[in-house]
Amino acid sequence: MSVAENLAQVNASIRDAESASGRQPESVSLVAVSKFHPVEAVIEALDAGQTLFGENRVQEAFAKFSELTSRGYEYNLHIIGTLQRNKVRDAVKIASCIESVDRIVLLDEIEKQCSKIDKSIDVLLEVHTGEESKAGFTDKAELEQAVALCAGKHYPHITLRGFMTMAPNTDDEEKIRTSFRTVRNLRESFAEKYSLSLPVLSMGMSGDYPLAIAEGATIVRIGTAIFGARQ
Ligand SMILES: *Cc1c(COP(=O)(O)O)cnc(C)c1O
Repeated sequence: MSVAENLAQVNASIRDAESASGRQPESVSLVAVSKFHPVEAVIEALDAGQTLFGENRVQEAFAKFSELTSRGYEYNLHIIGTLQRNKVRDAVKIASCIESVDRIVLLDEIEKQCSKIDKSIDVLLEVHTGEESKAGFTDKAELEQAVALCAGKHYPHITLRGFMTMAPNTDDEEKIRTSFRTVRNLRESFAEKYSLSLPVLSMGMSGDYPLAIAEGATIVRIGTAIFGARQ
């Protein structure tokens, strides 16, 4: 199947999952995860109408998406992978959102690099909920401190939009749902405590996105189901 056909199928099943769980139509956005796939694959998706993409390595993303810019394409790019501090400078140049903020020093660096180029950026705080992946805040107090710093206007170039997580890689649906629910509950309690709107919950990948939508995801990040297996 072509990228365009896969995209149509994924979009249709997102719409199905929205209606099955009583969500508003189009309340869930699709981030097409193009990591490890060549620029031509991204162009196929762009030509099919997809404009929001996710990449997890800054170097790869920078090469690919700078080329797309120079070829005149318009897109939004989210960084979704663990980010090293020395990659933040390039990341903020190409991304509209960093979804994988997992420590406070990263917020400091994002603010510093954004202020240099006078750019505002959205961020999500990644919450660790799966056992296998090491990514995300593991300490709830530190996570809350990050929320408080963002709420306290500590970072003028950063807008905290919500949270991201990766569920455990398991067939146990209840474990997966618990992971998504944990993040949804955190969002609710922080939004209330800090009077923030925090509208975004980025959760759900190729294997578990219908469950994520049932649990309140507003962004799903899907690679394999659109672009096929990665090399
Ligand atoms: C690769 C990746 C995805 C997409 O995974 P698929 O299973 O290919 O859909 C989503 N989120 C993150 C953080 C990723 O690294």
